[in-house]
Amino acid sequence: MPEEQIYDIAVVGCGPAGLSAALNGQIRRKKVIILGSEFCSPKLHSSPKVDNYLGFGDITGEELRQKFLKHIESVGLSINRARVTGIYPGESGFTLQSQDVSYRARTVVLATGVSTVKPIDNEIELLGRGVSYCATCDGPLFEGKRVAVLAYNQEALDEANFLSEIAAEVTVIPLLKEENETNEVIQNPKIKVIEDVPKAITGENWATGVALEKQQLEVDGIFVIRDAILPDQLVSGLEVAPDGIKVNRDLATNIEGIFAAGDCTGQPYQLSKAVGEGQVAALNAVKYVDTKHGAS
Ligand SMILES: Cc1cc2nc3c(=O)[nH]c(=O)nc-3n(C[C@H](O)[C@H](O)[C@H](O)COP(=O)(O)OP(=O)(O)OC[C@H]3O[C@@H](n4cnc5c(N)ncnc54)[C@H](O)[C@@H]3O)c2cc1C
Repeated sequence: MPEEQIYDIAVVGCGPAGLSAALNGQIRRKKVIILGSEFCSPKLHSSPKVDNYLGFGDITGEELRQKFLKHIESVGLSINRARVTGIYPGESGFTLQSQDVSYRARTVVLATGVSTVKPIDNEIELLGRGVSYCATCDGPLFEGKRVAVLAYNQEALDEANFLSEIAAEVTVIPLLKEENETNEVIQNPKIKVIEDVPKAITGENWATGVALEKQQLEVDGIFVIRDAILPDQLVSGLEVAPDGIKVNRDLATNIEGIFAAGDCTGQPYQLSKAVGEGQVAALNAVKYVDTKHGAS
């Protein structure tokens, strides 16, 4: 369901880069939305000691994370819990699709962090041709059909439950780290669970199944639900280099109106760089909005 309002800047990701971009956009009096997955951010949280962030000689990542979130709240911003699955150019800006809602914005700042995702064989080739990253968006295409869900996170289990109301057969391959996280799905009688490891999506021009380590699963559609999505899968046509999204000194990507900041633009993977790039990206997004749509 699309949200009616148009934001000036949509920030995708709620780590240091995204929060810095949002803060600076807000201070420049732009209408900002932060779209961030469950926890902002696991990396910052897991850092036991940060000793190179100016002004804070001896602080844990978690303490810094709390300070960042408090600062964001203090300027009237909040984080919308949403995993963005696709960004599409449209009339006067972009549509950002998440699991349940789509948002509209004049500019986008990508701050999704570094992605360690390795797609399985044939996943990228068949994306949009039987392979999907979003059940809410594409589930209705598989009404009465057989689908598989490669479930890398908790959200995938909700997606499987949703698909069980539409599809004739839903098979979940749980790939979550915590085994007990799958219990909820196992209790749904309409869902079959196969404990196995996916090796490849099969099919020539359209996905026809999943090659698992121990067996072949024949299905009509495959939903791959994991936390991270490669940036060029998020935005079609986005140029990426081997270690990150290609940007210029303004942190502009090759797509007009889309900026990127932080670890997702490449090394060094460091806090100060992420926060600095978030600011530069936001200021250039502000400039872009003012030039293109008139100052507010
Ligand atoms: C153990 C450890 C210790 C570290 N110690 C230091 C240190 O001492 N000093 C230092 O400078 N750096 C340190 N770092 C690096 C630092 O944490 C990172 O450089 C920094 O977090 C990068 O910020 P970021 O915002 O670019 O990305 P991230 O912090 O990774 O944040 C990205 C966010 O975007 C979200 N996201 C991704 N995709 C989507 C999507 N499609 N939709 C919505 N949200 C999405 C993610 O869930 C995440 O919350 C450390 C890292 C680790 C792992």
